[in-house]
Amino acid sequence: MVIDAHVHISEREGCTDELLRAMDKNGIDRAVVFDGGSNENCLAQCRAHPDRLIPFGCVQLGRDPYVTVDFLARDGFRGLKLIRPTHNYNDERFWPYYGAAERFGLICLFHTGIVARGGAADKERRDDTSRMKVILLDAVCRQFPDLTVIAAHMGNPDHEEGAMMARWHPNFYFDLSGSSLLHRTHDYFRNLFWWDRPSRFSKRNAYRPFEKMVFGTDEPYDQLHEPMAEQRALLEALNQPPEIVEKVFGGTMAGLLGL
Ligand SMILES: [Zn+2]
Repeated sequence: MVIDAHVHISEREGCTDELLRAMDKNGIDRAVVFDGGSNENCLAQCRAHPDRLIPFGCVQLGRDPYVTVDFLARDGFRGLKLIRPTHNYNDERFWPYYGAAERFGLICLFHTGIVARGGAADKERRDDTSRMKVILLDAVCRQFPDLTVIAAHMGNPDHEEGAMMARWHPNFYFDLSGSSLLHRTHDYFRNLFWWDRPSRFSKRNAYRPFEKMVFGTDEPYDQLHEPMAEQRALLEALNQPPEIVEKVFGGTMAGLLGL
């Protein structure tokens, strides 16, 4: 089963139909979806296509009340999408959100690294990439050991820190959607993932770097084939066996979601 762990949807007319067609075309069975504009729309689309779409709720750290997480869990969301926090991701003011997510078994997909410009909203929200640095998730992984953390974009451009996080934290995963594979070479990742063997430090589920990677696209639906091909090419260049490729493209995510 192929699972895309990073898909944006919206209330735009025909959005879900376009996504489903693109998934069919690219052999993607299921997708984790989130709608930054409307959690209600996200849930409605997922309820209409429960065999294809998996709902993640958008929570604005520092702006939404903590109880939002409880409501999202009750409504059937399987995870949270987090971006543009009012403070650093490791700020103790955010711990109640993470604690609730851990309690309800909601996976937390954090945007990490450089964030797109958002026009006038940048100023209004005081957007600041430095609050979303991947290393800020170190404290979150330690404080909430039963919380599953996925760092979208692996902290781009802080891939060194992202790779070390993947090595040390059993509850830390990453995706390589975005521009990481456009500006970093396969050899660069080969060097980052030098730890592809068990050691006395490695965790049971963490001695193979690509067991911590989940496939995600985060692109317009007519371009899903591009990140898919880039990520496949990386795994091939680094001689990953078929069972690891299968895990990246869905097996690991299916396990995390209990599918
Ligand atoms: Zn995204």
